[in-house]
Amino acid sequence: MHEHAHGRQHIEALIRNQDLEGLLEQAETLHGHLCPFVSLGVKAGQYAMTALNRQNTGMEEVVAIVECNNCFTDGIQMVTGCTFGNNALIFRDLGKNAVTVARRSDGQAVRLIVRPDYRDNMLAKYPAAQPLFQKIVVERQGTPEELHRFHHIWAAISRRELQTPLEEQFHIQHQTITMPEYARIVESLICDGCGEQIMASKSVEGQGRTLCRVCAGGKVYVLNGQGIGEE
Ligand SMILES: [Zn+2]
Ligand SMILES: [Zn+2]
Repeated sequence: MHEHAHGRQHIEALIRNQDLEGLLEQAETLHGHLCPFVSLGVKAGQYAMTALNRQNTGMEEVVAIVECNNCFTDGIQMVTGCTFGNNALIFRDLGKNAVTVARRSDGQAVRLIVRPDYRDNMLAKYPAAQPLFQKIVVERQGTPEELHRFHHIWAAISRRELQTPLEEQFHIQHQTITMPEYARIVESLICDGCGEQIMASKSVEGQGRTLCRVCAGGKVYVLNGQGIGEE
């Protein structure tokens, strides 16, 4: 049997070499900017993948269960290779900065939880960042010049935070979990209302018609900046 080449060899090498800077650079290409929580996601991902000693070709060998949708999650997606699209990313809408990375073969898992005092301790180390953070992130204000300065400081902090000991940033739990089911391949149907193709599992049957949820006027759930909710 031959090894299939796969698209993550570069990232797997960065993980093995503990090249956090390199992994952060990769994560920036996905996330669009550098910030301390992307940096935390990168570190959590690197730690978990090393602890589980697992490669990921995007075929659900590894599953990441995230409990928030924010910057942290993008660091996780990039480093673990568990993404929204390959069904290896599972979202529990808990609003916690935490992730569980598990390997499919035996349910061995690592859960990393960002310490509750992390943000305050981090901001206290970088006095220049605190007022800018308040103005730009919390109050969504600030001049273009302040925004520019904030991005520079934030990126520098993200890199610097790679060096902070993991135990100052996270609580770490080693667990064995029951693995979530594999994504199922389901039949496709055509909606009698709009004519668009839908997964059979998402169709609604009524009065002899097959409809998508929009045409059926039923509830539609969305995942947005507020988490999961009704549209
Ligand atoms: Zn961010
Ligand atoms: Zn429809």
